[in-house]
Amino acid sequence: MISMMGMATESFELGPIRPPNEAFSLLIRVTRNCSWNRCKFCPIYKGEKFQLRSVAEVKQDISMAKVIADKIKELAWKSGRGDSVREVAAMVLNNPPNDAYRNVALWLYAGGKNVFLQDANTLIVKTGELVEIIRYLKETFPGIGRITSYSRSKTAARKSLEELVELREAGLSRLHMGLESGYDPVLRFMDKGVTAADHIAGGKNVVASGISLCEYVMLGVGGRTMWREHATETARVLNEINPDYIRFRTMTIQPRMLIHNDVVNGDFIRETDEEIVEEEKLLIENLECHSNIVSDHMINLLQEVEGKLPEDKEKMLAVISRFQALPPEDRANFKLGRRLGIYNQLDDLDDARLHDEVDRVIGRLGEDGVSDELLFSLMERYI
Ligand code: SF4
Repeated sequence: MISMMGMATESFELGPIRPPNEAFSLLIRVTRNCSWNRCKFCPIYKGEKFQLRSVAEVKQDISMAKVIADKIKELAWKSGRGDSVREVAAMVLNNPPNDAYRNVALWLYAGGKNVFLQDANTLIVKTGELVEIIRYLKETFPGIGRITSYSRSKTAARKSLEELVELREAGLSRLHMGLESGYDPVLRFMDKGVTAADHIAGGKNVVASGISLCEYVMLGVGGRTMWREHATETARVLNEINPDYIRFRTMTIQPRMLIHNDVVNGDFIRETDEEIVEEEKLLIENLECHSNIVSDHMINLLQEVEGKLPEDKEKMLAVISRFQALPPEDRANFKLGRRLGIYNQLDDLDDARLHDEVDRVIGRLGEDGVSDELLFSLMERYI
């Protein structure tokens, strides 16, 4: 039995989100909230003021993360498990004294390699200050592998290529950017605060610097009226940027989002799953870049649409065709099973036990059956 006595006093500040593939990263908060904060589909920082944090404050958090990591390692030695920090980190995770401990324990459990700098637009920090923070991070944790962060396209476009190269040389390995769409009317409607030209300028700047780039595309953000242009123009912009990764994330709408008013007023008409899949197909058909497609967000209907372009394009389109070719009752069964978290991929439809489980739920639904409204409401849970 491991005692956690005396652990609760150490802590450091954490922001609310990180990308899905940074779930096991150490989180270091470099700024607070979002410097733009107006996108209609994004509820994360609404009502919160953007703030830069001082280099001293951030360094103090990094030092505190080190103190916590050392305490967990010390605990491992004291309990006779010195060679198994992972095991002790798992025990701390069962009952962490606070969120900072939870984050460090999770990080150590996963091998203590990657770091994600929060919050929404880290490149807004003066280059010299960010370099100082990254260097301190690497001095404090010499075993660090990847250091990544979020940036807005406009901010990345404003940095000189020399500044971005300096950041890469200091240790910044990857930037995640929310492209969402490459179609200007969609970007304007959603109040994204950038144009397709800004996306291209910022994205190309990052690629030229050698920092790995992951662009997020929001499926469904064009709604029923602009889906076609959203798909083709997004592909055009991505082809120009040629990022290392393109990540799909399907739009979902909650009452707390500004876009909800547009839905209520009839100014934005949501796409159904079938329509979004058709949009995804058109987008992939038009991609001519050499990026890796990733669909790892839970909210995506077809998470297995993944692969490297151009060689896996047909394989990805085949997944979409397979869904589209399903008989209507199997498509309804799959959509509900996905939104209930029963299925992970199309192959799960062949699991008779899971299929029956979803059918039983369908049997309990009223006469509306698997309606779009039901599916939309289930999707809200994944934000
Ligand atoms: S820039 Fe990003 S974090 Fe800021 S409001 Fe838009 S989507 Fe949200």
